[in-house]
Amino acid sequence: MKIILIGIQGAGKSTQGNLLSEKLKVPYLSTGHIFREMAKEHTPNGRYIKEVMNAGYLIPDEKTLEIVSEYLTRPEYEKGYILDGFPRTIVQVEAFKNGIDYVIYLKVSDKEALWRLSDRTGENREDDTLVAIRKRIDLFHRFTEPVLDYYHKKGILIEVDGEKPIEEIHKEIMEKIQSKSEGTTVK
Ligand code: AMP
Repeated sequence: MKIILIGIQGAGKSTQGNLLSEKLKVPYLSTGHIFREMAKEHTPNGRYIKEVMNAGYLIPDEKTLEIVSEYLTRPEYEKGYILDGFPRTIVQVEAFKNGIDYVIYLKVSDKEALWRLSDRTGENREDDTLVAIRKRIDLFHRFTEPVLDYYHKKGILIEVDGEKPIEEIHKEIMEKIQSKSEGTTVK
């Protein structure tokens, strides 16, 4: 099964992605994690990625597509994946036709995301400054909301309230996947 997870930073994508991965027995993969690993490399490419990420900007589409395409041809992703953080722009969506089954949108308000992330700032991620977080939220509305519209029109978008408790969200996602696969609708 191929699932995409979409949501602003702080929406709980990696938490839900890991729960889904365990339940559905398909590997979890995050483009943010891939880029953070690349940013550690002491190469011009590593330094470039680090700079873009720390400013809260998106890595250019062409580079992102090249890296994600390379990852997804690896044998461990042959039977499916839970992909967190990609596609994030319409250009990425249009270049990425990979037989996606479901797109899960974890919806949280900007205020809630900022609240959650301000708790986390300074603890672990170098790219988590308040300025970068605000930039990412702004870019989400500009570039990623059209991606949600695209998948909604395709009939594969599942929207869940990301402000509920973790287990409840997981349960709701599983129920909605089940009902979509049976062709019924759960409100
Ligand atoms: P995330 O962990 O998903 O918040 O991603 C962290 C950072 O990685 C983002 O702020 C971007 O700089 C970069 N990134 C991750 N996924 C993408 C993508 N699909 N397109 C462009 N940049 C991305």
